Amino acid sequence: MTVFEELESNVRGYCRSWPTVFDTASGAWLRDENGKDYLDFFAGAGALNYGHNNPVLKRALIDYLVGDGITHGLDMSTVAKRRLLETLRDTVFAPRGLDYKVQFPGPTGANAVEAALKLARKVTGRQTILNFTNAFHGMSLGALSVTGNAAKRAGAGVPLVHVTPMPYDGYLDAADELGWMRRALDDPSSGVDQPAAVIVETVQGEGGVNVARAEWLRQLAELCVARGVMLIVDDVQMGCGRTGPFFSFEVAGITPDIVTLSKSIGGYGLPMALVLFKPELDQWAPGEHNGTFRGNNPAFVTARVALEHYWSDGALQKAVLAKGERTAQALVELVAPFPGLSTRGRGLVHGVVFEDASHAVKVCQLAFERGLLVETSGSADEVVKLLPPLTITDDELERGLALLVGAVEAICG
Ligand SMILES: *Cc1c(COP(=O)(O)O)cnc(C)c1O
Repeated sequence: MTVFEELESNVRGYCRSWPTVFDTASGAWLRDENGKDYLDFFAGAGALNYGHNNPVLKRALIDYLVGDGITHGLDMSTVAKRRLLETLRDTVFAPRGLDYKVQFPGPTGANAVEAALKLARKVTGRQTILNFTNAFHGMSLGALSVTGNAAKRAGAGVPLVHVTPMPYDGYLDAADELGWMRRALDDPSSGVDQPAAVIVETVQGEGGVNVARAEWLRQLAELCVARGVMLIVDDVQMGCGRTGPFFSFEVAGITPDIVTLSKSIGGYGLPMALVLFKPELDQWAPGEHNGTFRGNNPAFVTARVALEHYWSDGALQKAVLAKGERTAQALVELVAPFPGLSTRGRGLVHGVVFEDASHAVKVCQLAFERGLLVETSGSADEVVKLLPPLTITDDELERGLALLVGAVEAICG
């Protein structure tokens, strides 16, 4: 029995899908303790958009640590935080004409979501949040209440309340996908209470790579404005360039009232999260939402350097869109011979959807044996989700796609 089996809780998950012991990593590669290399099409569930141990970020981090820079800072003002805020303002907000206040919650996506929900409720004085079918927003009680998956919800052990689910784009396969929501908000007898906010992912990553159309997002934003409902975009996984532009909602030309960021915002895989909101919503009392690890300053350093290095010009965005197109093309060719397979995606997040969900799990197992890390998502684990680092080289991308093609052909052929 390994010490993992002996001591680590049964709650552990990814180590079951990938039964080896990883040791080192660089760029798009992980190496296990036996020296076997794995190409990473998982990227820390989207926390490693710039790859493992990115040398530019690593250099800045080492220099900061060697110089005795502040490591733990709560929400005290620090040089590292000042430089990050200035870079966010100049590199991310100003070029996009965004006017956002920045909140540092505890350093996880779930904590950012909790803060966003609290703020929307506080500002509006209302309780109900509208969420979407197949949504994933994290595992704490508030975040779980707006998450769709039944098994995850069951873990709460208490009722998950003050939330009303709405159909995500494509869920009803209807001409007007927002028809029900519009109706529910307009009809005082619909039974849907006037909501504080709507929380949405522009692409549902954990929910099965469900891609909302830009037009649907625009209509949703218009509906929110017309009905006085806050729009929260949870960009924890799809932000930081995953879909091409820095924010995933940019394609729709919308400006959410509140945005959550985590996963890749720290740049290096260090824990960090942000909540961004319009200045008039900044109605927090000092300390009203806090947390011991809000001031993870080493993450502020790597976050700032990642923004400077990758977002001062359009090079990364362009590269992501090109690699995304290449990936989409390869996947269209992959699924064509198989009637039970389809594919969807945007930027560098793509899914291969299997009518027979057991095939998706087997494909991931075989891919692992052949040296590719790729995970399933969707309500029945029926989708193989591709989430390579954005900095993956063309050669590595081709290699990973070839490994995936081989695994699908072996399982479904
Ligand atoms: C991962 C994720 C979260 C939760 O983030 P944690 O850091 O795991 O708490 C929230 N929302 C979305 C969209 C995510 O992908």
